[in-house]
Amino acid sequence: MVDIKSKREIEQMKEACRITALVHKKMKEVIKPGITTLELDKIAEKVIRDEGGIPAQKGYPSGEKGIPDFPATICASINDEVIHGIPSSKIKLKEGDIISIDLVSYKNGFNGDAARTYGVGKINEKSRKLIEITRQAFFEGIKFAKAGNRIGDVCHAIGEFVEKNGYSVVKEFQGHGIGRSMHEDPGIPNYGKAGKGIKLEPGMTLAIEPMVIDGKPDILVLDDGWTIITEDGSLSAHYENTILITEKEPEILTII
Ligand code: MG
Repeated sequence: MVDIKSKREIEQMKEACRITALVHKKMKEVIKPGITTLELDKIAEKVIRDEGGIPAQKGYPSGEKGIPDFPATICASINDEVIHGIPSSKIKLKEGDIISIDLVSYKNGFNGDAARTYGVGKINEKSRKLIEITRQAFFEGIKFAKAGNRIGDVCHAIGEFVEKNGYSVVKEFQGHGIGRSMHEDPGIPNYGKAGKGIKLEPGMTLAIEPMVIDGKPDILVLDDGWTIITEDGSLSAHYENTILITEKEPEILTII
């Protein structure tokens, strides 16, 4: 069942989304060569808590025996890491790296989820293009995120755009409904068939999140049980926003 939020619920949810956007603004400022991903994590957590929010990913259960809960505020995934990288004092950013930061803030009983891939210092053209295609894939997808369309229209548009440009989408992970829970129905893969899936209605809140690889689509999980990497070592990028389906154009809640 896809939850339809009331006007009041949407107003409440906008606050968590605003905080998530604020963290990304801060990340953009502080990401530079020499900073560690644990330092980024502490900065992100402070922004969220200063705004009266809670970092929703911290303590998120792995769901797998022997794999600890996610220990941090942000997922920090560098270069060939796709998603779910764990911040560490041992991981220092280097000039030319790309880093994907994914985070969820929680406030007023609701979640706001967004991810960006940032360049560290000066990055090469290949990295810049991957980041841009990933961002554009989101916007190609949400052109179809309108009441009356099907979710498959969005999925199809994302996958087609990415593949047309010679990149791969990650198939094992997907976008999702979001609200009182971080992950709600529907699942939103970054590929699919137009005209299929649930019909979009005003009041649905969705996290749309292309995960793109500049190489083959295959992925592996590191021994920490969380970090997802590309199998062939190719670079990967991620771009995500929480959006609201309206009667007209979708509203992007995690851009301020
Ligand atoms: Mg996310």
